[in-house]
Amino acid sequence: MRKAGLIGGMSWESTLPYYRIINEEINKALGELYSADCILHSINFQEIESTISKGNWDVSNSLLSQAAASLEKAGADFIAICSNTMHKCIPSIAEKTHLPILHIVDATIDEMKSNKISEALLLGTKFTMEEAFNKERFQNAGIKIIIPTLSERQRIHDIIFSELCKGIITDKSKEIYKEIIYKYCINKHSGAILGCTEIGLLIQQDCIEIPVFDTTIIHAKKIARYMINHT
Ligand code: GLU
Repeated sequence: MRKAGLIGGMSWESTLPYYRIINEEINKALGELYSADCILHSINFQEIESTISKGNWDVSNSLLSQAAASLEKAGADFIAICSNTMHKCIPSIAEKTHLPILHIVDATIDEMKSNKISEALLLGTKFTMEEAFNKERFQNAGIKIIIPTLSERQRIHDIIFSELCKGIITDKSKEIYKEIIYKYCINKHSGAILGCTEIGLLIQQDCIEIPVFDTTIIHAKKIARYMINHT
């Protein structure tokens, strides 16, 4: 089994499902008492949020690249970043490790393609929705990306940081997200990318008719498959 090096804690609320799903998938595939051979480097999220909210990415670049280097030293075979937004730090991380990084967007693209989805609403932090680092990867794979209006983006972003990352789940926020998904996903081949690892705490496939792509579930399953070689 490949040993996974997980960079988590961003936030820890979403790292919990990662850990559970990876173990469940491995056990489902191998049976008996098989479970995940992994190392989790959980980062103090306060240091991340307090700096990226001011537009400073140096702290995140440094924390994540140091985490990757220490995971490599500890014997990890590959790195997985348990946050969509933090994939922005990949150029810095790649300077500090030679390990492969299992990208959350690549896993999501595969899932979307197998569901014949060619157009999708991207929900996530402001950074994920507005900047190119993940969006372009979808577009380069032929997926048309739609993003909400500025005020909707702000609401989506604020709910992530002031509620979901603190484990606060409310019906009101669930309705706000659902309303935005219904507003944009109007044709047969469209879906919504839950492009932030906490959104799945609020929206699950069984509460909405539009196909949703929960990046936490998709990424965690991909990590488990990669660990046991069934990629
Ligand atoms: N977990 C989040 C994401 O998937 C947001 C928190 C962060 O890492 O900034 O984008």
